Amino acid sequence: MDIVLKNLNLIDGTGRELVEDAVIATSAGKIYYAGPASGWNEAEGESMVIDLHGQYILPGLIDAHVHLSGSGEADSQFYAPTGQMALKILSNAQKNLAAGITTVRDLGGWSELEFDVRRSIQRGDFAGPRMCLAGRFISITEAGADYYVGMYRVADGVDEVCKAVREQVKHGADVIKMGVTGAVLVESGVPGATHFNVDEMQALVDEARKFGKPVAMHAHGIDGIRKAIEAGVNTLEHGTYLYQDPSVIGQMVERGVFLVPTLKVGWDIILAENSNIPEWIMQKNKDSQGDAERSLKMAYEAGVSIAMGSDVGTPLNYHGENALEVYWMQQAGLSMMDALVAATGNAAKSLGWDSWMGTLEPGKVADLIVHEKNPLEDLRVLADKASLQFVMKDGMVVASHAGSELPKELFAKQVLRVG
Ligand SMILES: [Zn+2]
Repeated sequence: MDIVLKNLNLIDGTGRELVEDAVIATSAGKIYYAGPASGWNEAEGESMVIDLHGQYILPGLIDAHVHLSGSGEADSQFYAPTGQMALKILSNAQKNLAAGITTVRDLGGWSELEFDVRRSIQRGDFAGPRMCLAGRFISITEAGADYYVGMYRVADGVDEVCKAVREQVKHGADVIKMGVTGAVLVESGVPGATHFNVDEMQALVDEARKFGKPVAMHAHGIDGIRKAIEAGVNTLEHGTYLYQDPSVIGQMVERGVFLVPTLKVGWDIILAENSNIPEWIMQKNKDSQGDAERSLKMAYEAGVSIAMGSDVGTPLNYHGENALEVYWMQQAGLSMMDALVAATGNAAKSLGWDSWMGTLEPGKVADLIVHEKNPLEDLRVLADKASLQFVMKDGMVVASHAGSELPKELFAKQVLRVG
């Protein structure tokens, strides 16, 4: 059955300006028209027409950096026994979908349980977002591996690094995550320090490429960033000290490397009042937040492609509040529309999934969200559960408010409550 959504304000995720009085038509979960009502020929027959009374429609948001295994624990201790961890991952995945995040890229899962959760969602056992998965975070021998026991895959030397990539591919990884420098959220981690040697980085990227998998690099320090870009990675996660070398920023533009700045985690920690955040976590974030913002601004102004990644799961950074990252990117210098595109069209590009999703255009999957308020007046609307009316994935309603008046035929088998 064709579904026609009309009388709406369309923000299509490509960066094009808002279109008033627009129509979106879908068939079998795909969009076949998205544009002004004046260009729409109302077809005879079986379509179901829904009047959205001037509400705002956007692509379902894409969060390019999450940790489904974390729930915002103040001390960043994600651990749970296996059965509980699988349910925690599912519950967190559903919180994303219920908040309008229809796609997540998990860059550090837990004991491969996220692959099982994804299979259950794909089979239709549970409602959940699309999941682009990295499996484990591949790292040199360091303390983070003891802190995040189910998340890390320690690999030292070229042979081990290749084996670690093969393991992630075996489990079904869509992307490989490489820990290029030290971390902020590991007590003894030195964010500026380069971890892998150049031959290990090159081997990792080459091995991933053999299987057609892109590489996401966790990196703060400029030396590590420079070397990993040279090795051929696809996305830079965090990029805190990028500002220290404009020539590296130039390389990112030239090679099409995306920056995923993850500002929200720092703000959630720094702005927390009366929390039980350990002092070392507070201090390390206070020390680096200004640098992260400065690096994003410089990269954006130089023309680096930006994708939205909230790093939800980290301390006080809760699943479902992801969209505030869009607001923080705007505060750091992005235009409103560019910040929105970072969470839609550009995020899809950063995953390599843009040929079939991420924007509201003909041929793309009908993943979309409907808001009562205009996000282009205040981007915090994107995280406002009262404004969010419903969420569609593959053309079916997968989350809505209680008492929604949408026709029952539009609802998927499992429907979550927005919020
Ligand atoms: Zn992360």
